[in-house]
Amino acid sequence: MKFNVTTIFPDLITSYCNESILRRGQEAGAISVNAINLRDYTEDKHNTVDDTPYGGGPGMVMKVEPIQKALSENKWKKGEKKKRVVLLSPRGRQFDQRVAEEWSDLEEITFICGRYEGVDQRVADHLVDEEVSIGPYVLAGGELGALVMIEAVSRLVPGVLGNAESIVEETHAENIKSEYPQYTKPADVNGWAVPEILLSGDHAKIAEWRKEQSV
Ligand code: SAM
Repeated sequence: MKFNVTTIFPDLITSYCNESILRRGQEAGAISVNAINLRDYTEDKHNTVDDTPYGGGPGMVMKVEPIQKALSENKWKKGEKKKRVVLLSPRGRQFDQRVAEEWSDLEEITFICGRYEGVDQRVADHLVDEEVSIGPYVLAGGELGALVMIEAVSRLVPGVLGNAESIVEETHAENIKSEYPQYTKPADVNGWAVPEILLSGDHAKIAEWRKEQSV
């Protein structure tokens, strides 16, 4: 699975993705993360990616042309089989575990991260497959959202997690609202004891108890 991120802060993406499971997933060849700097696709000496809004109003709006150039020079385009071009937007379809599962079968996802007051509407209208939100709140930019989605999708890509079973019974997996409670050693902390059943060694009973505890 290949992730591309179009952003004015590529280091935010690479620094996070070069740690922990995303680093291991890349080293294993299961995923790759390619963050590109939108300013490299501008043509003026100030590398301008934004301009004032038509009709007036506060703040700046991200321009179409650098985004269009970044997409076309990298051959990332909407409507391709097994690929998706996604604009981060608080107005978009809400990302959740179902979307992560749906996307985990794709070959390539390209995220476009907005900043400032947002992105010229013509990007949503003409250049992307869909607008996606990571939640009902407004962030300063799309980078955190892209990272959230990269991580959630990557965990479902074979070869990224050490133990593939760990995603099967997880919170938000199909038919599971929340995973069973997990405990580790010691068995007693400050008088807070681990449920007896987990110390019993009876694997059938433990599986049954865990099933009851998952919602
Ligand atoms: N003025 C816009 C509005 O009211 O919808 C908000 C723009 S926001 C400050 C700047 C950028 O951050 C957006 O273009 C988007 O790329 C990203 N962003 C902010 N909140 C987001 C969210 N909940 N999900 C996805 N992206 C978000």
